[in-house]
This record gives sequence, C-alpha cells and structure tokens, in this order.
Amino acid sequence: MDNYYVVGNADNRYIKNSLNDYLYYYVMKRLVVLGAGESGVGAAILAKKKGLDVFVSDKSSIKDQYKKELDEYNIPWEEGTHSEDKILSANEVVKSPGIPENAPIIVALRERSISIVSEIEFANRYTDAKMICITGSNGKTTTTMLIHHLLKDAGLNVGLAGNIGFSLARQVALDDKDYYVIELSSFQLDGMYEFKADVAVLLNITPDHLDRYEYKFQNYINSKFRIVQNMKTSDYFIYWNDDPVIQKELERRHIEAKKLPFALHKAGGIAAYIENELMRINLQDRSVNVPLSSIPLRGTHNMYNSMAASITACVCNMQDDKLCASLQSFKGAEHRLEDVATVGGIHFINDSKATNVNSCWYALQCMTDPVVLILGGKDKGNDYTEIEELVKTKVKAIVCLGVDNTKLHGFFEGKVPVMEDASSMKEAVDKCYRLAQKGDTVLLSPCCASFDLFKSYEDRGAQFKQYVKQL
Ligand code: ADP
Repeated sequence: MDNYYVVGNADNRYIKNSLNDYLYYYVMKRLVVLGAGESGVGAAILAKKKGLDVFVSDKSSIKDQYKKELDEYNIPWEEGTHSEDKILSANEVVKSPGIPENAPIIVALRERSISIVSEIEFANRYTDAKMICITGSNGKTTTTMLIHHLLKDAGLNVGLAGNIGFSLARQVALDDKDYYVIELSSFQLDGMYEFKADVAVLLNITPDHLDRYEYKFQNYINSKFRIVQNMKTSDYFIYWNDDPVIQKELERRHIEAKKLPFALHKAGGIAAYIENELMRINLQDRSVNVPLSSIPLRGTHNMYNSMAASITACVCNMQDDKLCASLQSFKGAEHRLEDVATVGGIHFINDSKATNVNSCWYALQCMTDPVVLILGGKDKGNDYTEIEELVKTKVKAIVCLGVDNTKLHGFFEGKVPVMEDASSMKEAVDKCYRLAQKGDTVLLSPCCASFDLFKSYEDRGAQFKQYVKQL
C-alpha cells in the first residue's frame, strides 16, 4: 500500500461535497499524462502538487518551455514514443483531447479497463470553484472570452480555461479561483464523467469532427450533451432555442438544470431575445434591456453569443449598468470577424477561424458590401450548399487558397462572376486587392482547416493581416 493515495485524506485525498449532495472518493497511485501540451503539463503539475506518482508521455516532441517546466517540478517525461510498460502501469490516465480513441496506446489502456479522463475532469476534483462551461460547434471561444470579460468586470475572481490560455489544472494547482469559465470541445467532454457544470452553455450543434465519431452525427450530439450530465435543479442550462438539433434532443432527454434558452424572437419561456433594437433578458426575478448599439460584435451569430453570455452574467448577479458597459468594451477574439484595415476604400476582414461552412455562412450573412471571398484549405467533407445562396447574392469574386481547389471550382464555378486560385497568402491578398473596388470587403472566411498551407488558423490569419498591412 505504500505509494497508494486515497483522495479525501490530507493532500492526496479529497472530498468534494458540493451542495452536500455527493461524496466522492478517489483512489489513485500512479497517474500517466498522455500529451504534453498546456493541459497535459498543467495536469502533471497539479498531480505532482497533490503527491501523485506522475509520468508524462508524448508521441511527438515536447515544446522546450514545457520540458523545462516538467524538469523544474521533477516530473519524469518522455517524447517521441509511448513506452507501454510505463503507461500501462497507470491507475488512471489523463489524455490530451487531441489523441483519438483508435490510437494504439488508448486501445491498449481500454483493453485493461484503465480509467482515462480529460484534464478538466481531473482538475475539477481539486477545486470547489463554480464551473461555467461553454460548448457548441461554433462560437465557443468568442462566448467563453466574452463571459470571462463580463465576470471579471463584475468583480469576480474568475479564471479562463479549456482551450484558451492556461489550463484549468495549472490554475487549480498554482492560483485557484472562485469561478472558471471553460471552453469545452467535444473531445474534452468525452473524457468527463463526474464533472458537473454550475452553468452550461450550449450554443449550437452542426456536424463537425465526424471522423472522430464513426461518422455518426448522433455520437457527436451525445458528446456535446455531456455538458449537462450530473447537473442539478440549482444549476443553469443556457442554450439556443432555435437550433433544430438541440430541440430534438431536448424532447428525448430529461435535464434537471433550470433551462434558460435564448432565441432571436420573443416567445414563452425564452430568457433572452431581440426586440425593438434591444437585447432583452427576461429571467424569473429580473429583466435587463441592452441597446443593440452598445454591442460592438457584429453579426447575428454574435447576438446569440452575446445573449448566452449576458444570461450567464445575470445568473452570476452582474448589475445591469455594469453588464451594458462591459459588453460595450469587449474587443472580440482575434481571427473571428476581425477588422484588419481599410486600404484604398477596401475593407479587409480576418475570419480565419471559420474552419467550417456554418461559420462562413454567419460571416457572409452580416456582410453589407460586395465581397471578395477567400475560401479553401483542408476540406473536412464540406457541403457548400449551405452558403450557395449567400455567395450568389453577396460575393463578386472567390479566391481559392489551397493545395487542391478542385472541389471549390466544381461547386462554385458559374455561380460567381470571377474565380481565381492562389497558392500563398501573399498571392491571395494581392489578387483580392486587384479584384476588389472601393467600397468592397475582402473576407477571409475559408470554410476549411488550414493545415495544407499553414501551421494553424492563427498562422493563416496572421499572414493575412501581415500582407494586408503591406499593401
Ligand atoms: P469555436 O471556438 O467554437 O470554434 P469561435 O468563437 O472561435 O468558435 O468562432 C469560430 C467561427 O465561428 C468564426 O468564424 C466565427 O465568426 C463563427 N461563429 C462565432 N459564433 C458563432 C455562432 N454562435 N454560430 C455560428 N458561427 C459562429
């Protein structure tokens, strides 16, 4: 029994007794962390601080900054390989969300029934903070950042976690907060079992990442709905009421949390909607009206994100005047409908994060000028019919930026006056500048992942901005 830790006793035991409704014991001896990115390294630091025997393994190379940190904390690690003898001896594994279920090491762990959890599940055991969680196919980052911005302005001691910034585990280990606003992808949700959100936000569900879900949309939907698991009547579930996928799911699920849906139009039971140029929030004991003019984020999709965030702020008791002022001062997230510059009367917008067709639809929907659109990259099985009508009415030229643009030409040829190809961002920006006239907008909203020509969507967006600024 030496080296055997029982949570709930001293540092290595814990009793999480939230609302006195459950008592949770955990028994653990050896924790293995797979994947040494921000979440893995954070989990390792937390595990070490809690006295666990921890080992970190990454099949790729580990960034120098993380290697240094692991060494500083005296945490053994390996890179470029997964040593089965060291990994399969684990009592529990914290897995990076990037590692798929069919990775051989995960198959081997499952065969041995070794528990595999996400970093969020692990970190949650060591904090009593209130958890505000955001998921959806699109809008997670924007809404998470906005909620964090609002709650900070409300004066709460709040951390930002999930896919953004520092990992939850690192913050719990080094600087625990009273509240966390956490962006959750479906992959993170898949590794969550006992975790309970105090506030869950589900923005929308459209097909994405189906390659990780046996190409079954329902599997992906089930994954997104894990956000409400374990929630109690004292918790809040905030969701987009007009989403047909969410609606259908709600008909067949029993959700205990208080439901606070948002929608564009007023209807019975809707907690936030738009009316007479106001965003109206109507809760049981409180109503707030926010002039749309004080919300700088553009587009219908951002109205949804703002409604979801504002309901959250209200249930966290933010005052009306503070809420309005704070919405107004939110700058928006980089690479999401980001204004870059106006050059020669041509407006350039960076929406590099639009890596699926649905997010491009929202971008096009809020364009008021004729658009020169940059599309392309690594296609994840896209169906472009969703944007066909908007392209026909708003787009005067498409510049295809990808290694293989055949599918884009096949679909859009004849539907827009001009289609051209580019094989680098510089070429794309130059072509757009030539094709656009004063009063037009050049929009980078590619519908595709970036990995064919760029390191990431951030790299793609950064290059776009760089070449626009050089015009
Ligand atoms: P995520 O983190 O879910 O990928 P982001 O906030 O990073 O979401 O936005 C990704 C893309 O989706 C951007 O192009 C953005 O303009 C678009 N978008 C943002 N919010 C929504 C929404 N509620 N519905 C649809 N598209 C959205």
